[in-house]
Amino acid sequence: MDAHREICRAIDNYRDKAVALSHEIHEHPELKFQEHFATGLLTKAAAELGLEVEREAGGLKTAFRAEFGARGPAVAILAEYDALPNGHSCGHNLIAGAALSAVAGLKSVASQLPGRVVFLGAPAEEGGGGKIILIENGALRGVDAAMMAHPTDAEFCTMPALATHHLKLTFHGRGAHAAMAPWNGSSALAALIQTFQSVDAMRLHLRDGSRIHGIITDGGHAVNIIPERTECLFLARARTSRYANEIGARVIRCAEGAAMATGTRVEHVVEGGYKNLINNLSMAHRYAAHSEALGAKSVEAPADTPTGSTDMGDVSHVMPAIHPSFAISRHGEGNCHEDAFVARADSERGYNAMIRVAKAMAMTAYDLLAQPELLAAAKKEFEARRES
Ligand SMILES: [Zn+2]
Repeated sequence: MDAHREICRAIDNYRDKAVALSHEIHEHPELKFQEHFATGLLTKAAAELGLEVEREAGGLKTAFRAEFGARGPAVAILAEYDALPNGHSCGHNLIAGAALSAVAGLKSVASQLPGRVVFLGAPAEEGGGGKIILIENGALRGVDAAMMAHPTDAEFCTMPALATHHLKLTFHGRGAHAAMAPWNGSSALAALIQTFQSVDAMRLHLRDGSRIHGIITDGGHAVNIIPERTECLFLARARTSRYANEIGARVIRCAEGAAMATGTRVEHVVEGGYKNLINNLSMAHRYAAHSEALGAKSVEAPADTPTGSTDMGDVSHVMPAIHPSFAISRHGEGNCHEDAFVARADSERGYNAMIRVAKAMAMTAYDLLAQPELLAAAKKEFEARRES
């Protein structure tokens, strides 16, 4: 198809610019909601492509949105660009470069597009849930399907990302001199430690694929004072949001039991969570076909593939969506969030993969707009698989 050829040609022509931009973002890592440098580069590049860019989309300072094409269905291509405290150890600079390149490819065939392309800059994937805020504030309203691609150490057209449930527990006891009058105190630390032990006892009874991990953020302030206040965070993960929430409720029961046993009181705050990713197979298989034609076999991820969580999961609950992963390192040579992955995200291999993935995404987006039966199949599948 001529449009496919033109898209790929335009992306190849755009390569130097995309690589330079991705490298710049890599060199200036910014944490969630602080991605001003990256947003500046991306909105400038989008404007240079002739797009009208809406800054601060969805009320988020570091989000943006641009749309082009003709009346008709719309496909969104999402960019992430936030980093972690150890730099771009999740390779989001490559996600941004791939999304921008895909948009450049689609812009080159804008006059033939039987629909619209939405380029959405989505900040704060790492713990901030930027996409959840964008959904709530209407930045994806009127969009029919969405996609992005994430670097890892494997080539998959799907990703079995888990749902999450964030929980903060605060225990309140009674302070007292730890030697002179401990009988006058009740230890908020004892309650917290008992909670961790009860959670560990619960693990055996969790369904396969579930995870529960916690940290102590306040364990008391002086060794000679019975801790009056302690605090911890738990993150439960599961294959569905419903089960992640259920694990969260069980953690609260563990905490309440510990509080009762220690004569303390516990307060809990649910600090949000991501939904599991529903991989739209109609879209994923089309992406995989394009990827294979470009020389990279991209299969469905096996169910037991080690995985994390993403706010793209929330997007996949409101419209058909894909989140393929592309390999920028070999298995065992570094993966997401590891220090070794930082260099992979700024490597020749990484940039080659970024350009290839941009082509596969752009051609998939084009097909969704140009072939009504493909979009119809994606929507039908979405309706059948969405969770009530
Ligand atoms: Zn990531």
